[in-house]
Amino acid sequence: MNTILEETKFILNKYHIKANKSLGQNFLISEEVVQTIIESSQIKKEDLVIEIGPGLGTLTKYLLEKAGKVVCIELDKKMVNILEDRFSFYENFQLLNQDVLKVDLKKLIENERKNANIKNVKIVANLPYYITTPIIMKLLEEELPLESITVMIQKEVADRLIAIPGEKETGAITYSVYYYAQAQGILEVPNDSFIPEPEVISKVIKLTIRKEPIAKVEKKEVMFKIIKYAFLQRRKTLLNVLVNTKVFISKEEGIQILEKLGINKSIRPEKLKLEDYAKIANYLNEMF
Ligand code: SAM
Repeated sequence: MNTILEETKFILNKYHIKANKSLGQNFLISEEVVQTIIESSQIKKEDLVIEIGPGLGTLTKYLLEKAGKVVCIELDKKMVNILEDRFSFYENFQLLNQDVLKVDLKKLIENERKNANIKNVKIVANLPYYITTPIIMKLLEEELPLESITVMIQKEVADRLIAIPGEKETGAITYSVYYYAQAQGILEVPNDSFIPEPEVISKVIKLTIRKEPIAKVEKKEVMFKIIKYAFLQRRKTLLNVLVNTKVFISKEEGIQILEKLGINKSIRPEKLKLEDYAKIANYLNEMF
């Protein structure tokens, strides 16, 4: 018998809940997937876990057993009642009824780390897919003291996030993730692992945050801006895009710079390594 499916149906009935599509509510009902997420996040008693979008609490139940503290951030008030009923007797449970994109996570983590028993911070979530990218970018760009991020997201986005820059599936976001983290695909998840079923296949991925950035770049904002411009026209050569977007003043100047940096002038934006974009950013930085 699938107990998670039974439990989910029971809770939905008891609280007269219908999944809210606009909040990305697809509830996990697969024992295997739940166990994979919990095991691959390698939670210990000295960990603070932040769960984004706990929903009915399917993952939360296991997180509470393993972690020192679990802070759940859930936007839907209806879920809040359920989660409080289910878990408020756990001393290590805390719930914030907020939009995760508006939460000051730095402050939250700082406060929790005052507790001497907390050593590491991990994010675990079955994310709402309509805001996957903004959530992941917030977690990375705010340079929070995280150890890892284990999340289920749509497969198409997952493959772009975990690609190695320059290889297949590379997008602008691939470089950002690679700069901050080492990424790993854990498990592909079919649509029937949820109720209601999402329209896309899903994937669990784990991002282990790097202790040191992988490329030496003086101003990372400049590098990411160049990457963003480069991918505005990814079918063109890097040279042409950077001339069109006025990163290079002229084609001649662009050719000179690329030659000096040892970058092929016919290369396409998605073929560059992160180090190549870092070199361009550092070079332009010195000129201005
Ligand atoms: N964790 C549950 C599970 O695995 O069954 C639910 C996952 S469901 C895919 C996503 C959850 O994120 C929903 O509970 C939804 O209400 C919540 N959510 C949506 N937008 C949110 C936001 N901006 N901030 C926090 N939670 C949000």
